[in-house]
Amino acid sequence: MSRARVLWHYAHARRRRFADRAALERWQERHLRGVLARAPHRYAAYAGTAPRTLADLPVLDKPDVLARFAGLNTRGVGLEECVTAARAAERGRDFGTTLRGLSVGLSSGTSGQQTAFLTSAAERDRWAGEVLARALPDGLLAGARVTLVLRAGGPLYESVDGGRVQFRFVDLALPVDALVAEVVAAAPTVLVAPPSVLVLLARAGVRLPLRRVLSVAEVLDPHDRRTVEAAFGLRVDQVYQAAEGFLGISCADGRLHLAEDLVVVEREPVGPPADRRFVPVVTDLFRTSQAVLRRRLGDVLVAGDACPCGDPRQVVDEVLGRADDLLWLPGGDGVPAPLFPDFVRAAVLAAPGVRDFRVVQHAAAGLTLAVEPADAFPGARDGLVAAVARAGLGPVAITPGGIEPTGPLVKLRRVRREPHVPAPAAAAGPPAGR
Ligand SMILES: [Zn+2]
Repeated sequence: MSRARVLWHYAHARRRRFADRAALERWQERHLRGVLARAPHRYAAYAGTAPRTLADLPVLDKPDVLARFAGLNTRGVGLEECVTAARAAERGRDFGTTLRGLSVGLSSGTSGQQTAFLTSAAERDRWAGEVLARALPDGLLAGARVTLVLRAGGPLYESVDGGRVQFRFVDLALPVDALVAEVVAAAPTVLVAPPSVLVLLARAGVRLPLRRVLSVAEVLDPHDRRTVEAAFGLRVDQVYQAAEGFLGISCADGRLHLAEDLVVVEREPVGPPADRRFVPVVTDLFRTSQAVLRRRLGDVLVAGDACPCGDPRQVVDEVLGRADDLLWLPGGDGVPAPLFPDFVRAAVLAAPGVRDFRVVQHAAAGLTLAVEPADAFPGARDGLVAAVARAGLGPVAITPGGIEPTGPLVKLRRVRREPHVPAPAAAAGPPAGR
């Protein structure tokens, strides 16, 4: 890692300001022109095309990206080769593996379909500089001890020994006790971890000299947010990040802004416009080793109002999670309609005594509900039935289930739909290519 290059990106990101939305869009257009002009020469998948605008390129879903993997990176590295190398690295927990000069990483797949990604050293330095510029509460000079608890000590998270800024990476694969001990020993002032780990640390009652807490890698439930905020006496902010790259972070006012200076985000509306829910289609303006052009993400986001901080980058009020987390239940006319995980969460958690829960849609009109403690089940079930009815859906059969322990390497999803339960094609917006 080049410290000079990280600092260069850091300084530029700190200085970058957009007076208004129009200024931001001018910046995007300028960089996008270069991205579109270079794509046909750089990536085999776009050879022979001459895109003038984003609309000239197809929207790619995850299966498309996996199918065309070799054509979507500059070195022609195949998916098989990449996943094999990344898995071997993960097993040995040695993340220095490179393929033809690029580092390989594995996204934490929840659907059983893992995505591999490739990055160059220059891209990782840019990533570190951009994230640091937004994550450090008082800037580099004030100093910070940053602790990252993440699934892979993937090359993206390699430490930048920045003098006054110390980095410590804690491996999410560690046993719980060791993980807690490592975080305590690191005495972080900035802690970046998945919400499930933040909850674990909160419940362990550890004392940390924290100035900022950032949740990453899983959807932050309001329920978990309250637990962590109460334990640490600090607001929990969010880093929104995927295999597609760094997508957003909370501002000083605590609102999540999309990183629209680095990515163009097209929106595909989900549900009525008043709900302001959309599936993002992302184009990266700076990646050079792998094409991230019009990738449809699996997440559903809720657009927010302009932020008092004055930053014109789009505010996201909530990341509702993967489109697979929508339940599709029978509507009044028999046509399946979506029930969003936030309604499910609110309904179940409103029941007296519920500490934790899981809801799985296993059939077109069948849900499994698991709650802790188990004696809170009847109340939670009634709440869920009422929420389904209020949404004009159902009836559904609700059967009791158990909360299966998941390892720390598996993303926590409290609400999900099993892959075999069909969702209408509109679940994630219009079909690819439109
Ligand atoms: Zn803001």
